[in-house]
Amino acid sequence: MKDGADPMHPDWRTALNQANAAPRCHARSKRTGEPCQAPAVTGWQVCRMHGAGGGHPAGPAHPRWVHGLRSQEWTETRKAINDLAREAREIEALIGEGTKA
Ligand SMILES: [Zn+2]
Repeated sequence: MKDGADPMHPDWRTALNQANAAPRCHARSKRTGEPCQAPAVTGWQVCRMHGAGGGHPAGPAHPRWVHGLRSQEWTETRKAINDLAREAREIEALIGEGTKA
């Protein structure tokens, strides 16, 4: 492989350029205030030192999941119902004022 054309085995300069072009960690050092700049873990915005890959899965797989009525899905549903109820009360109030006058 004289001209380094094999994409699976690039020459060391190509490999180094690819490694340096990797996405960087978005965390900021609490000691210096400077950006971390370590390579980010694939699929994350942060490096392995700044919490990538940690945490529990969301939803029923979470170890603290109890009944799901406080899940993101149910919270959104409750908000939608409350918005509809509020609108209904406002319309009711408007109609009530119209008949009094
Ligand atoms: Zn980092």
